[in-house]
Amino acid sequence: MTMMLAAAPEAETFVTHLECGYTGERFEADKLHNLSSAGKPLLVRYDLDGVKGALTKDVLKNREPTLWRYRELLPVRKTENCISLGEIMTPTLPMPTLSKQAGSAGIFVKDEGRLPTGSFKARGLIMAVSMAKELGVKRMAMPTNGNAGAAMAAYCSRAGIESYVFAPEDTPEINLREIAEQGAKTWRVNGYIDDCGKIVGEGKEAMGWFDTSTLKEPYRIEGKKTMGLELAEQFGWDLPDVILYPTGGGTGLIGMWKAFDELEKIGFIGSKRPRMVAVQAEGCAPMVRAYEAGERHAQRWENAQTIAMGIRVPQAVGDFLIMDAVRESNGFAIAVSDEVIEKARTEVSKTEGMLLCPEGAATYAAYQAARADGRINANETCVLFNCATGLKYPLPPMDQSLDRHQPIDYAALARA
Ligand SMILES: *Cc1c(COP(=O)(O)O)cnc(C)c1O
Repeated sequence: MTMMLAAAPEAETFVTHLECGYTGERFEADKLHNLSSAGKPLLVRYDLDGVKGALTKDVLKNREPTLWRYRELLPVRKTENCISLGEIMTPTLPMPTLSKQAGSAGIFVKDEGRLPTGSFKARGLIMAVSMAKELGVKRMAMPTNGNAGAAMAAYCSRAGIESYVFAPEDTPEINLREIAEQGAKTWRVNGYIDDCGKIVGEGKEAMGWFDTSTLKEPYRIEGKKTMGLELAEQFGWDLPDVILYPTGGGTGLIGMWKAFDELEKIGFIGSKRPRMVAVQAEGCAPMVRAYEAGERHAQRWENAQTIAMGIRVPQAVGDFLIMDAVRESNGFAIAVSDEVIEKARTEVSKTEGMLLCPEGAATYAAYQAARADGRINANETCVLFNCATGLKYPLPPMDQSLDRHQPIDYAALARA
């Protein structure tokens, strides 16, 4: 029997307009948009009373376990424009042994590595590309640290849209090859992701492409929002106490925060919110610096360096939206070193059998640090985000070999 993973429920969309996340200025739906006139991200607004009348928890129960199950809260108007490569609801897995060791009420991992192209960038890009298809875009471009480019390449190829991707030259080889193999015209650039973003922005006129940079188009947030919708549904519409999110551009954190707001307005959840924790790497922590300085905007982080490439983002255009969610939720921002990230990855792999990506491992390292300094306590239920499959990243070497022509000292195997 085949599961119809691609099937999106037939539904009208409830989008009313778009709104500048900073000034509140209104923009028309059904038109191509990048940033607002204030140079800030746009947020999609819905007729939530209409959604409330159309979507119930029971209706949801009978839908396929895919991202399109939340169709009424998503922006695509025509079902024929909902592309798909099989976006499952990702499992939220307990970590029984580590939770017990930590004396915790529960530490869970939302494993996003199981999505198409192996990362949660699929959620954002499926929405951006579906909307681009709906609005007649023929060519898309973006800067990427790897995973976003891979997702855009795949969905663009699926939708018959041409794609251009620019990545820092030290982006892991596997990501660059994945992007190119999935059909994007791909370049290594001698700079950071924001330097690549400049090339995309400045090439717009000459190339006529649509700039799909993080938060510079309105729909990636809507796709990432489904993480919050799924989490709420998976927790029986009673949200966990703390969410630890590895934060680069912050799309997911902002998206989940928006999801909770919309869920409350349609009566699915109450006013309780998780504390939102922005996790960054010590080698690139602009949000942590801004948080600690009590600021709403973050300065660019110079000489950014970390093994967690997905969060190596020196400057985020949605900085104030990240800060607002963190502060309003009574959360915090925290940085961890590459060394503890690697230690955390090893610990989770060897103890729970889950191979996290470095960004995901950073959330576990942050959990441990925050338990130690008292910012998270034992009776709080916590969700860590593993944003990509660990298989996309360099791993510690395995260099043991056996010579089958020599006698084997079996007892020695156990001591290795
Ligand atoms: C993009 C990315 C992040 C950061 O996500 P944002 O929502 O842009 O902050 C974290 N981890 C991985 C693996 C990523 O690819």
